[in-house]
Amino acid sequence: MLVGVLGGGQLGRMLGLAGVAMGMRFRFLDPSPDAPAKDVGELVVGNFDDPAALDLFSAGLDVATFEFENVPSSAVRHVAQRVTIHPNADALDVAQDRASEKRYFEQAGLAVHPWATVDDLSSLEAGIKTVGPPAVLKTRRGGYDGKGQAVIRATTDTGAQAGSLCHAWESIGKRPAIVEAMVPFTRELSIIAARGRDGSFAAYPLVENAHAKGILRTSMAPAIGVSPAIERSAREHCHTLMEKLNYVGVLAVEFFEHDGRLLANEMAPRVHNTGHWTIEGAVTSQFENHLRAVAGLPVGSCAPRGTSVMHNIIGGVPDKAAVLRVPGAHLHLYGKEPREARKIGHVTVCGDDANAVSFASSEIGSLVAAAARG
Ligand code: AMP
Repeated sequence: MLVGVLGGGQLGRMLGLAGVAMGMRFRFLDPSPDAPAKDVGELVVGNFDDPAALDLFSAGLDVATFEFENVPSSAVRHVAQRVTIHPNADALDVAQDRASEKRYFEQAGLAVHPWATVDDLSSLEAGIKTVGPPAVLKTRRGGYDGKGQAVIRATTDTGAQAGSLCHAWESIGKRPAIVEAMVPFTRELSIIAARGRDGSFAAYPLVENAHAKGILRTSMAPAIGVSPAIERSAREHCHTLMEKLNYVGVLAVEFFEHDGRLLANEMAPRVHNTGHWTIEGAVTSQFENHLRAVAGLPVGSCAPRGTSVMHNIIGGVPDKAAVLRVPGAHLHLYGKEPREARKIGHVTVCGDDANAVSFASSEIGSLVAAAARG
């Protein structure tokens, strides 16, 4: 089976690593000849808005998917005329625009924090009065890892200092945006689930995530101290979101836990960084499950194997031998050049003894932090 993947980043690379084990072969489309997925399949170098590149990519595929959330949905629709592609372009449309995503959450019955759309300074001024301050201004499209976001602390001040409306509006490039209340959340939780072509559904447990400067640093799975009601509601919400979109593949939904309930922050129609722990820490990894679903094969168990903590490697590669000396540690490097604030790999520590995992995780945390400092 030849699987086509739009995007050739680390997510594509990890999809390839999981799929080759099941006898699949891969073709990736990516604008960069150095795309990390080139090591696990054929790479077509081209732009997502180039019909000739999309045709070359699609020829002879058995099925297609995408690993990059900012692939234009027109590219997915173009490929869909030639070969089956999952998830569908409608899911991508919803997730690519923060305003559509919020509306979709609301329609599906998920709680969201107060928000308003912003098109100019005056709508920002009106919006801030309903949601904050403090508040976060986010571009509707194209933001990731904290990019395209600015915190606002003032209500009407149009001065140029950080935290003012004017500064925030300028810093996001005066692009269509949403402004939302800054949530004093207890913690961040996310859920990942897989839905098969036959509608079968399986969800991983909620995981607890820690971000710094808008970038995911660690995920702990399963999250500790989650009430059965919260776990159930996350699963049910995720299921509803998938059913309404007739979604096939893996979907991630990120929440803020606040006042004992979940507020939906965003969703990603693809395999997700908060699911990397599943490679070693779950019965079936998110990458395998995404491919099983997309290819029309049965979805596998999402049960965790003990406790896992995933640390992103950002900016610098830690001492490999020191990482691998830590009991239960698994090193993943994506073949990317180190650069400040760039995710270039991850380490997952997993095991049955939660105390031992916690101890090992703090060692990995120190090694990763030292490498990031250079
Ligand atoms: P996002 O791109 O929306 O996932 O934002 C990246 C990270 O910034 C989140 O995971 C949070 O840590 C933080 N963040 C984003 N929006 C808010 C908010 N409304 N309130 C508090 N923190 C936020």
